[in-house]
Amino acid sequence: MTHYDVIVIGGGPAGGAAAHVAAQAGLSVALIDKHKFPREKLCGGGFTGRSYRYYQEIFGAPIPEDIIITKHNVEFHAHGQELARIDGIPPIHMTMRRDMDAAIVGHALASGAVDLTGAAVETLDLDARKVGLKGGQHLTYRVLIGADGANSLVARTLYGEAFDHARIGFGLEIEAPAPAADAPVRIDFGAAEWGYGWNFPKAGSATIGIGGVHGRNPDMKAAMQRYLAKFDVAGTPKVKGAFLPFGDVRRWPGRAEVLLAGDAAGLVDPITGEGIAYAMKSGALAAEAAAEAIAANHPPRALTLYRQKLRPIHGAMFHARWIRQIIFGRPFRNTFVRAFRGSGTVRYQYLRLMAGEIEYPALAWATLKKVPSFVLRSATGR
Ligand SMILES: Cc1cc2nc3c(=O)[nH]c(=O)nc-3n(C[C@H](O)[C@H](O)[C@H](O)COP(=O)(O)OP(=O)(O)OC[C@H]3O[C@@H](n4cnc5c(N)ncnc54)[C@H](O)[C@@H]3O)c2cc1C
Repeated sequence: MTHYDVIVIGGGPAGGAAAHVAAQAGLSVALIDKHKFPREKLCGGGFTGRSYRYYQEIFGAPIPEDIIITKHNVEFHAHGQELARIDGIPPIHMTMRRDMDAAIVGHALASGAVDLTGAAVETLDLDARKVGLKGGQHLTYRVLIGADGANSLVARTLYGEAFDHARIGFGLEIEAPAPAADAPVRIDFGAAEWGYGWNFPKAGSATIGIGGVHGRNPDMKAAMQRYLAKFDVAGTPKVKGAFLPFGDVRRWPGRAEVLLAGDAAGLVDPITGEGIAYAMKSGALAAEAAAEAIAANHPPRALTLYRQKLRPIHGAMFHARWIRQIIFGRPFRNTFVRAFRGSGTVRYQYLRLMAGEIEYPALAWATLKKVPSFVLRSATGR
């Protein structure tokens, strides 16, 4: 039996950041993942300005240039019509998760986290603070960080199920052949109900997909086929799917010395589907809370400290849940589309939101300010 100050389950952006920050704080840390890295993870790989900033803050260096491509142009469509093509946008980066997650795990191991990748967690005894790995090895901890994704074993152990699948999101994706070098980022509102479609150009491929609230998209496969028909997708690559746990944020993510971070805590933006930035940030905050609770010799206080640190992210998630009624709800969505098409300010604020420069209230305000002129124009038939 080996003992660690902190055990982190999951080597994605949440777990990698948590293990890195905890190890840098001088704690003994085990980083467990069922996969060896590099490994694949279904994801659009859209790496926003927010992700870029958090990565640099947490790991002390920018994300390596050779694993991102940076785009400055975007095309928006809604319900089959082009809304806008905009050049010179705040930079948005594209990455492949295989490369990005390996870089993050590399940071954590270089900081001193013990490498237990390639070993799945099979048993958890939260009362005895004990983790059992496939193969029979057992480990104990003072603080456990569950960064084990949308189907988190830690969340299932705490709550019986990780999420209510009808309420959260689901996404489908293909990896299509490489696009032209100047291909823009493409977003299609309405490609899925309460969600959107995307075509993200990368260095060697394009990631094309749709995602939306699972319970509102009973036939997402058919919606995906309609979306793919817009593109020249030679050889019909295999469609893969995964849950995006948005819209079901856990207000108290964990219990005492057990903390949930990233997808396991439901920290995905319910409008844009952005999860990488919040995973890295929440992982780092969980590690900070763990370090403070251990320094105070009171590990069960970790959750209270973590929850205080999470307030700004929780605030952003709750605003987004409210504002998505304007963007996706039937009574308002045409207004949003018209505001988006007609107003440079609304488009600019949406792009700044994607870039992590503003939060949702500024976007909602820019949209709502446009409502009276549209109402007036429809009433007068102009
Ligand atoms: C189709 C789709 C498209 C997306 N596109 C984007 C996008 O463009 N931009 C963006 O920002 N976000 C996007 N997201 C969301 C993003 O992928 C997630 O929010 C992000 O991966 C969360 O990181 P995480 O570290 O919490 O979990 P994950 O990245 O899922 O990592 C969890 C890790 O835990 C490990 N694990 C799980 N169970 C166990 C176990 N029992 N034992 C050991 N290890 C275990 C897994 O192997 C995995 O490595 C998308 C998601 C989907 C599904």
